[in-house]
Amino acid sequence: MEKLEQIYEGKAKKVFKTTDPERYIVDYKDDATAFNGAKKGTIVGKGVINNQMTNFFMQRMEAAGIPTHFVQELSERETLVKKVSIVPLEVIIRNISAGSFAKRYGVEEGIVFDAPTIEFSYKSDPLDDPLLNEYHALALKLATKEEIETIKKYAFAVNDVLKAFWAECGVTLVDFKLEFGKISDGSIVLADEISPDTCRLWDSKTHEKLDKDRFRRDMGGVEDAYAEVMKRMKAHDAN
Ligand code: UDP
Repeated sequence: MEKLEQIYEGKAKKVFKTTDPERYIVDYKDDATAFNGAKKGTIVGKGVINNQMTNFFMQRMEAAGIPTHFVQELSERETLVKKVSIVPLEVIIRNISAGSFAKRYGVEEGIVFDAPTIEFSYKSDPLDDPLLNEYHALALKLATKEEIETIKKYAFAVNDVLKAFWAECGVTLVDFKLEFGKISDGSIVLADEISPDTCRLWDSKTHEKLDKDRFRRDMGGVEDAYAEVMKRMKAHDAN
């Protein structure tokens, strides 16, 4: 398997073709953006952490029966994945109020929900990822009804695995964003990443933020927070 030309460069990752038409290589960068690219910066070491953490959780998801795009970790920053066409929906699961939810509905952060919520945004930078519901997604032909049902089932299953894992690390899973893709046989798999860039993670005791909100909100200690959650993840894995 050889790395061929770059086909895409996103905010946090580059994607390369390979000699296998059904495989891509993802290369994680230290670049960080927030507010749809309006805020830019670097989080030193983030690419390595996000690559390794994502791969760790993708394998946990596979073990739990949730199919993913993961194939093989190639280096600290590079991973071989299945070629997918990304379903243009950002799927957000929330266990606790925070971020845009708190702002939109005028509530404080930190309200623990009785049951997790799910919401969809239309993945579109020019439109600023507008919130939409399943009917809108169907009307826009972003996915079929069956695909949306599958995505919802997988997303809640990811929450169950992730929330339980982090709880055992003394970390509260507040919310996170997932993306799904379609592989060549038409089936839906979990794609993109699961990392402190895409999850809100709070220390269970102190409620200290251990995720990208430290970058978004200029709180400092960004690299330390990423390193801390990585350390706890590895310590738990070793048990
Ligand atoms: N999120 C993400 N990418 C996005 C938007 C949100 O990974 O483009 C994640 C974010 O890190 C958080 C969750 O999705 O864990 C919910 O984010 P929210 O809707 O509250 O948006 P934000 O406050 O980040 O704008």
